[in-house]
Amino acid sequence: MTLRGRLTSAFLVVVLGPVLLGSIFVAFTVGAVSRERTTERLDHAATTISVAVGAICRQLQASADAVAVVPAGDRRAVADQLVARGLATEIQVTDPDHSGLARSAVTADPAAGGHQDCATPGTATTPQVTALAASAYAEEATVIAAQRIDAALLDRLGASAGVTVTLGAGVPAAAGTAHRELAAEPGRPMALTVTARTGEPTGRYLILALIVLVTAFVAVFAARWLARSTTRPLGDLAWAADRVANGDLDTRVPIPRPDELGRLAGTFNRMTRELQSYVQALTASRDQLRRHLAILGDTLSSTHDLDRILPVILRTAMTATGARAGLILLLDPADGRLAARCGAGLTGAWDLSPAELSQRRLSPGRGVLGRVAATGVPSRGTTGRALDEPACDSYLAVPICAPPDEEVGPDPTVLGVLALYDRLGAPVFEDADLRTVRTFAGQAGVAVHNVRVHEEAQRLSLTDPLTGLWNYRYLREVLRREVERASRFGRMLTVLVLDLDHFKEVNDTYGHTAGDQVLGEFARRIRIGLREVDVAFRQGGEEFVVLLPETDAYGGVIVAERLGAAVRDWPVPIDPRRPGLDDRIAISVSIGIAVFPEHGSTAQEVLDAADEALYAAKNAGRDTYRLAERVSPAVPEGHLDAATATTGGPQPPRHGRGR
Ligand code: GH3
Ligand code: MG
Ligand code: MG
Repeated sequence: MTLRGRLTSAFLVVVLGPVLLGSIFVAFTVGAVSRERTTERLDHAATTISVAVGAICRQLQASADAVAVVPAGDRRAVADQLVARGLATEIQVTDPDHSGLARSAVTADPAAGGHQDCATPGTATTPQVTALAASAYAEEATVIAAQRIDAALLDRLGASAGVTVTLGAGVPAAAGTAHRELAAEPGRPMALTVTARTGEPTGRYLILALIVLVTAFVAVFAARWLARSTTRPLGDLAWAADRVANGDLDTRVPIPRPDELGRLAGTFNRMTRELQSYVQALTASRDQLRRHLAILGDTLSSTHDLDRILPVILRTAMTATGARAGLILLLDPADGRLAARCGAGLTGAWDLSPAELSQRRLSPGRGVLGRVAATGVPSRGTTGRALDEPACDSYLAVPICAPPDEEVGPDPTVLGVLALYDRLGAPVFEDADLRTVRTFAGQAGVAVHNVRVHEEAQRLSLTDPLTGLWNYRYLREVLRREVERASRFGRMLTVLVLDLDHFKEVNDTYGHTAGDQVLGEFARRIRIGLREVDVAFRQGGEEFVVLLPETDAYGGVIVAERLGAAVRDWPVPIDPRRPGLDDRIAISVSIGIAVFPEHGSTAQEVLDAADEALYAAKNAGRDTYRLAERVSPAVPEGHLDAATATTGGPQPPRHGRGR
């Protein structure tokens, strides 16, 4: 059964039940009251009629007595007079010998049996002749006074009591009437039937039934209307809820009236609207996260450049957790401090350019980030204002660890820290955020680790194992890069080519191992004698190259002299294999110097010029240096002079010691 059906039934039961019960009660009550009143009326009429009949009897007795007391001769006149006055309809005087019967206005023959004696009642039933009789006895005669009981008299009797009176008993009652039979008794000589209209309220019953019918009609109509107006909005709501459940979040229901159902509909619409915007926001952030993850995947698989990888990881972690800002710091193996590598959304003192940011250093063990780096335990909280770290309302910092390595041990190596600040839409970062960020920190750890491994491999493939200097392969790349840079910024670059003198003899005399030792020591002395920006290479055998960025010919000559002296002045100590040999080997080096752009406009030209200068130095007797001849037409003659003039130094000698 539907809700509408139940509501209709309930309403009908509630309304129609009392109406029907009330109607039945009223009908019963009205019937009972009516019957009671009829009984009362019949009682009253019976009494009235008995009294009236009794009065007639006494009146007849008085008339008979009056005739009896007068002399016999006057009796007739008196009797006529009494009849004329209406005190009796007939007066009869009989002699004892029945000879002098005197009658007055005889209308019926007493012999016919129509007379009833008041004193001895009989069962007269003939209305036309029924009479009441009374007698008075004189010494010589009997006087009988009679009153005819006709329809007119009965009507009169009935009219005074509001009923119909008929002679005799056993008269069947007509519909809508009630009757009472009065038996004959002394003083009321004949049986009478008193009939009263019961006044049964048939019309009222009809009206009552009509009222019930109309009420039923109205109730059914009202019930249907009520049920429909109640259930239709509910039906709409159910329909809309069904559509929303099927994913159609555009569904809205009409708001019928500002009642409870209206409020329900309004709330449903609001709920759906908010659900829709929530789903939209969720979808947008999911799409954004997908894009970030795709970029992250591409980046991780396409590059070993941490400056590209780390910002993508940071951005993705921020998107995944809804963080306002983020920061990645890596432990610098050189000084063991935390160096900021990339940041996003940072404010205040940390709102820096990437170059400025990379200068930021934090000490491990101090502050939130320092502690995370030192302990490897993630940290989250609401007050991030620790020392010189970024200001925030809430923070989440997790360690960036290298992937587990059996050689290192079970404890992961901390490589850095990934920190997020100010979760949007929530006062603090939650456990779910921590798990998410640990995932990204894990990726960052793998990336950093891979990059470090890659860098190491790169370094190994570009370095010379004997001396630890960069190898020939790397020389080509660095020289090309440095020439390009010097050319772009209009700077100079000096190239030294060094070759040990008579090195073959060292090998021959002291052995190859000793020769290797000499090469290693020579490389060490080169490294010591250079600035940080200068780069030294082993070109092959006992030939070396040194690049001096931002250095002119004069600077190159100074370096050449210094390196020559460093080799010449301190013979290299070795383990003497053979007895009798010196434990120190005196060596010397010849150096060729060329300057970009003065002696060559390309890397190769400059290198060739330096080689030629070296050749010249060898030819000049070794243990000396030579500056290349000016060959490049691109540079004006005065360039070298101008450059040296700015340094304020003297003109560089074109030849070294031993010239
Ligand atoms: P100079 O340069 O003064 O003309 O004479 P040199 O004896 O140095 O002549 P050269 O350049 O022809 O000889 C180079 C020698 O260096 C040959 C080789 O025995 C030696 N040599 C090359 N590479 C190595 C190395 O890796 N270790 C050792 N011990 N010796 C090497
Ligand atoms: Mg050589
Ligand atoms: Mg040599």
